[in-house]
Amino acid sequence: MYVQHKSHAQLAEQFNRDAKRVDWHDETLWLVRIKRDRAASQVAEWEQLREAASQIKNNVLSNLHDYLLQFEQHALANGIHVHWAADATEHNEIVHAIIRKHNINHIVKSKSMLTEECGLNEYLHGQDIEVIDTDLGERIVQLAKEPPSHIVLPCIHWKKEEIGELFHQHLGTPKGNADPQFLTAAARAHLREHFLAGKLAITGVNFAVAETGEVVVCTNEGNADLGVQLADVHIACMGIEKIIPQRKHLAIFLRLLARSATGQPITTYSSHFQKPREGQEMHIVLVDNGRSRRLASDDFRNVLKCIRCGACFNTCPVYRRSGGHSYHTAVAGPIGSILAPGLDTIYLLPLPCVGRAPMFAR
Ligand code: SF4
Repeated sequence: MYVQHKSHAQLAEQFNRDAKRVDWHDETLWLVRIKRDRAASQVAEWEQLREAASQIKNNVLSNLHDYLLQFEQHALANGIHVHWAADATEHNEIVHAIIRKHNINHIVKSKSMLTEECGLNEYLHGQDIEVIDTDLGERIVQLAKEPPSHIVLPCIHWKKEEIGELFHQHLGTPKGNADPQFLTAAARAHLREHFLAGKLAITGVNFAVAETGEVVVCTNEGNADLGVQLADVHIACMGIEKIIPQRKHLAIFLRLLARSATGQPITTYSSHFQKPREGQEMHIVLVDNGRSRRLASDDFRNVLKCIRCGACFNTCPVYRRSGGHSYHTAVAGPIGSILAPGLDTIYLLPLPCVGRAPMFAR
């Protein structure tokens, strides 16, 4: 929920004033795209996997009501509290009510584009609750008081020297030290203190399995797991389109997600949260926030198939050369332009994903 008063063109022009940064941003993201292509080419059945994923999502979208109820029923049976939020305000109020009930004012949060979409950090900040983003890239942009500029690589617009200076200012690292390993170790020590103090952990959700009532969270840093395992309360926040029917379908989506995102064969951690551990409380917040309207639209229904791999960002020359902050929404890039409510839909129709399954950019 980032309100920008300038147009995309104006903000892109601003980004383009630093020609070297634009070239470097463009080349770096194109390298990620090349890695994705290499990874995809090593899977002989890649196109069949994409098609299978698209068909599963078609089935989910045609039966979303039933799958959501099935998911809720199983989650409740697993001892999870399930909440429904019609929009961002309701989502934030639900999360806040849980935090207030436990009288907590310091929480840890792993990456969740849904909470970015809902403006949760800003909302909780206004309630005197400190939220620490524990994904390294997210923490970097949080320290810089910026939104993420990419859904998978939130601080891709930052150079290591700039991160060194940011850490010097906020974490007290030696000035001029921009060694990535050193900076990562400094961030780890900094975040560890917050993990140990965090009584409540918020995570996003990559997939929610209707047949079991479990959610699956994918990270490369293990930060979601550490946060949840050390916390007394876990809140998982998800858009209603994250449902998949059965656990076996993960075999398709997990193979596609990591390869499409970064060219990795698998995300380092794909963690299943099916019930709270003994003594822990677990909540899941299911959020609509305009998704039902998208579902009802023939032109835009397919955007709900998006698994947020980010491949279309890396593919898009406009995104690569205008930067994520030139968009006006939490999810930037081509898919963000389509997902965001209130934009001019006629302008958006020519984007390359629409018309076929908007997944896993070619
Ligand atoms: S639209 Fe497709 S390529 Fe873009 S983030 Fe979503 S799934 Fe990935």
